[in-house]
Amino acid sequence: MTSSAPLPEALEAAASPAVALAQARRVVVKIGSSLLFDATRRAVAADWLASLAADIADLRRDGREAVVVSSGAVALGRGRLNLPASRLQDKQAAAAVGQSLLMHAWEEALAPHGLMAGQVLLTRDDTERRRRWLNGRATLEALLAHGVIPVVNENDTVATEEIRYGDNDRLAARAAQLGRADLLILLSDVDGLYTADPRRDPNARHLPLIERLTPDILAMASGANAQAGVGTGGMATKLAAAQIAASAGCATVIAS
Ligand code: GLU
Repeated sequence: MTSSAPLPEALEAAASPAVALAQARRVVVKIGSSLLFDATRRAVAADWLASLAADIADLRRDGREAVVVSSGAVALGRGRLNLPASRLQDKQAAAAVGQSLLMHAWEEALAPHGLMAGQVLLTRDDTERRRRWLNGRATLEALLAHGVIPVVNENDTVATEEIRYGDNDRLAARAAQLGRADLLILLSDVDGLYTADPRRDPNARHLPLIERLTPDILAMASGANAQAGVGTGGMATKLAAAQIAASAGCATVIAS
């Protein structure tokens, strides 16, 4: 998906998500909980993660840089603690346990490729206050310069309801801005934008390429389509993320 804001020159001619990917120098990949968490085993979907890590290693070999935004802390912590985690404090406790399980899984997946993971936990404040923003930017640059794969998540254990992102789609868009990425890939259980929620409406049409985020397009992601997909973020947060990314000249791909 491309947007109304001017794109970096390299991406201007991007006629498809595949072209956008081929041309991007720095990519932010956001992984939704529904992909990373195996609900049957209540644990990390290790095989899936291993193949994603191989793709990230390929990107690096190609001379591209990758930043990962990984969900899954709350789901993993809930699984380990056997907790329904409906109260905010329980979710935060689950995130505290799950975040270390998540980082362990990332280390294990990246190690066979000689890659290291670096944990970056952000709150909304970190992306809204200039001083913290600049610090965050410098840290990301340093991690990338050392060849580390930054693995970003929201700092769920301290973020309270009023001041949290709550969904990693918008967090990933901020991370793309922070890291001056030229492509944001939102991986989840939906493979793009549909005219309606494809799980409910057999007439829903897939829109392969959006060049401008017009009010009509944004309206498509509201109402019944807002929650398409099983993660915290639905289509509405994905388009909100695409808008944030576009304002920084970064294209967005929504893929499964
Ligand atoms: N930060 C949450 C987690 O790691 C995920 C939020 C989301 O699903 O977007 O569990």
